[in-house]
Amino acid sequence: MEQAEAESIPPSTLRPEELEAVYAISRAVALAENIDSALDEIIRLARPVFIFDNMVLYLRGKDTVEPAYARAIGRGRYKEAELSWGETTAHEVLHTGKLSSRIEESSEKVADRTRVRHLLGLPLFLESQLEGALVFIRFGGPPYTPDQVRLAEFIAGLVAQLIGHDRLVKRIAHLEAERKLNQLQEDFIATISHELLTPLGFIKGYATTLLRDDITWDEETRREFLTIIDEESDRLRELIENLMDSSRLQAGTLKMSFQPLRLDAFLRDIVLRALSLHDNIRIELQKELPELRIVADATRLAQVFDNLLTNASKYAPQSTVTISVREEPQAVHICVSDNGPGIAPQHLGSLFKRFFRVPTPDRNIRGTGLGLFICRQIVQAHRGEIWAESQLGHGTTFHIRLPYSQPKLDHDLSLRESSS
Ligand code: ADP
Repeated sequence: MEQAEAESIPPSTLRPEELEAVYAISRAVALAENIDSALDEIIRLARPVFIFDNMVLYLRGKDTVEPAYARAIGRGRYKEAELSWGETTAHEVLHTGKLSSRIEESSEKVADRTRVRHLLGLPLFLESQLEGALVFIRFGGPPYTPDQVRLAEFIAGLVAQLIGHDRLVKRIAHLEAERKLNQLQEDFIATISHELLTPLGFIKGYATTLLRDDITWDEETRREFLTIIDEESDRLRELIENLMDSSRLQAGTLKMSFQPLRLDAFLRDIVLRALSLHDNIRIELQKELPELRIVADATRLAQVFDNLLTNASKYAPQSTVTISVREEPQAVHICVSDNGPGIAPQHLGSLFKRFFRVPTPDRNIRGTGLGLFICRQIVQAHRGEIWAESQLGHGTTFHIRLPYSQPKLDHDLSLRESSS
């Protein structure tokens, strides 16, 4: 059963404590960090002068009316029930664009004071657009006094402003995110183009030089030019593979092939290969490596260590790189340490991000900032962890922790191996 309350509200003056609440609410709204905390504050400050049990904020969607905030202050009530109690009033307000004051009585035999509900619904206008409704619910009574209705209208005005402010903040954040993304894409294209064009420039330059009819090159020079073309083609291929790996890892489509692996033998191979590639670092593998078996994708894991050692050769030349292994109960902990220039603490958190490179005056060191990103993705695909510790002027240590086993082996590959 429903009935409308008196429509006209006689004029009145606010009592001092009501005025004080109005000022306190205005202040709180101005200082609030978000809509929810502002509404919490409004409820706290309004309650002493304006008794209500529930306050629900409904916002207009495209074809719907959605509760955006609800607080039940009365005792022993559940939020779900209260949300639906305010709905009829919210629809009425959104239909008429006017204040709605009504009393609802439950037809069921409800013994407590929630049987009679006084509802006060207020329209929320934002630049003359009706955006939602604020509904106050009071159980039992008494009816809202004209001063309380005025206070509720004042609160509704503030809530409308809050919604406007919130939208503006979200729009600005969205624009800022878009701007950052555009910047990132531009930076990426600039970096990648530069990285791809550099080896291509060498290849083209030396090939054209060799093809010139007017000069005859002696055998030694010819070999030197061909070696440069060979090395730069390798670099180009490596770059493109890195880019492809990075986007496959980002999309989660890079397939891992897990197999049992003898870690000690694996690390010895890595070191041998790195020594043949980099003549500007010393590499010391821990003596008497424990005979450790793990389950891993050997090719991908090799990529991780190759990258760390290549980085040591690029960023910590002339240093001694030590590789040590520690057995832990659930995992093996491997450290790769150099005694190069180190990395400043403010960059350590970004080191494994895609395309991140430590800003350095030495622009001759080539790179894309993809290497460590790929390392982390590979290690994480092994359910492991990788992180870096560094001290400027003393060197950098990369830590890798890998669990001994993986949830499932790559069956296809193990079968192929055992049948060959
Ligand atoms: P890239 O080498 O292509 O720039 P990485 O992702 O492999 O990308 O490395 C990211 C950055 O981390 C490098 O640009 C470099 O500044 C820094 N870095 C990596 N390894 C070391 C190291 N051993 N010592 C000092 N700086 C390093």
